[in-house]
Amino acid sequence: MKNADEKKSIKYTDRKNSVKNDVRKSSNRGNSVKNDVRKSSMRNDVRKNSSKHTGGENRVKNAAEKGSRKHIAEKNSMNNAKAKGNRKHSVWENGMNNAVRKSSGKCSVEKKCGGCQMISLDYKRQLDIKQKKVKELIGQFGKVDKIIGMDCPYYYRNKVHAAFDHDRKGNVISGIYEENSHRVIPIDSCYLEDQKADAIIVTIRNMLKSFKLKTYDEDTGYGFLRHVLIRTAHKTGQIMVVLVTGTPVFPSKNNFIKALRKEHPDITTIVQNVNDKKTSMILGEREIVLYGKGFIIDELCGRTFKISPKSFYQVNSVQTEVLYNKAMEFAALTGKERVIDAYCGIGTIGMVAAAKAGSVIGVELNKDAVRDAVTNKKFNKVSNIEFYNADAGKFLNDMASEGEKADVIFMDPPRSGSTEVFIDAVVNMSPSRVVYVSCDPETLARDLKYFMKKGYEMKKAVTVDMFPNTVHVETIVALHRTDM
Ligand code: SAH
Repeated sequence: MKNADEKKSIKYTDRKNSVKNDVRKSSNRGNSVKNDVRKSSMRNDVRKNSSKHTGGENRVKNAAEKGSRKHIAEKNSMNNAKAKGNRKHSVWENGMNNAVRKSSGKCSVEKKCGGCQMISLDYKRQLDIKQKKVKELIGQFGKVDKIIGMDCPYYYRNKVHAAFDHDRKGNVISGIYEENSHRVIPIDSCYLEDQKADAIIVTIRNMLKSFKLKTYDEDTGYGFLRHVLIRTAHKTGQIMVVLVTGTPVFPSKNNFIKALRKEHPDITTIVQNVNDKKTSMILGEREIVLYGKGFIIDELCGRTFKISPKSFYQVNSVQTEVLYNKAMEFAALTGKERVIDAYCGIGTIGMVAAAKAGSVIGVELNKDAVRDAVTNKKFNKVSNIEFYNADAGKFLNDMASEGEKADVIFMDPPRSGSTEVFIDAVVNMSPSRVVYVSCDPETLARDLKYFMKKGYEMKKAVTVDMFPNTVHVETIVALHRTDM
């Protein structure tokens, strides 16, 4: 299934790149941008740039797996969020950590894990601090509305990862990596994670002994189970279990699957992912579907999305809908607009916008994400959206130099924010509205300052708490052209 999809999407993109009319003069813009990104020094910039944020990410450790540090990984490294490393904290993160990190005793591994930096504070206080900090950074540009929190700020993560190992006595343990190490801290549940997912992980751990299956040993490369990844679909209730193994050989496979399904009949699909490399990446290349279709389906803002083991998907489904609805409100689409969804990931914002716009162009650097976007476009039978695999700054700059315009531009860059090249191109395409979705208020403030210089003003702003109990937030800003 996956291969067929991949082939189709590559073909689709190729065709689009060579014959697409709606980006007329640049009929092969997609290609040329892609090639440029490949060949030129731009590529290095892109690399460097993404390693600043992703990158950090790519060296994330354990805590990343829990709180929003994971989120960044997910935002930027679509497939294998790395399980260990030393990501440098952003200015925002450091500031927030200094302001709030102290122990509460609420979670027994809180200190070792480091994922829930704010769990010691009651939720209202967390929101007040986040609101105040965001206001300090962007309040100078205009009014910031009240932060939107969650009714239940726990158990919101729809993607849960557990590392497997054994203790000195040889007992199987599963849990999270200790901050800045590769030691597994045994846990059965986490305040951030979907509870059903946590229960399935405990079941798998208990089953290993009776099936005489060993955990993988990173030092020797021997053993079987390395990680378990569970993805749950908030709206449809579908559940995917990914067993990451050090070898493709799965003794008693059928009985294991049968026993697991007996305990958890609501599991929709089970996939074996083979990762036999000495690496800190969670997922390997090879996937074997053991039960079901190998993917799950979820709904977001009326659209349907196919989620495979490696697909990027926002981890807090409840707040993602809130975020996207706000983004649509700020965009005030009437059905006619030419829209750009920049840094589009798997195209979720663009797909939601397409129902209310004339046409949408999505642009994204990660080719796997673009492939998923194309699949989801077909899945939803949306005809007025096209996706391009390119660096957003270069792509928009090319469009602008060909004299192309846009009415509304959504931008959702990674934590490092956008670039002056990108913002200059936006300005040249003279959209009346820009909707900026940001996961780092520090870089948002920097970019807003540049937008102000270039003739835009901040009309609305609101923070959505996508990551309760952590220091992270998502902020949306509506920018309007001042000469309108
Ligand atoms: N809008 C999406 C994804 C946002 S995450 C959503 O809501 O789900 C930010 C995205 O920017 C990631 O998918 C990342 O791969 C992409 N990205 C990072 N640098 C980029 C660049 N220079 N050009 C285009 N996309 C980029």
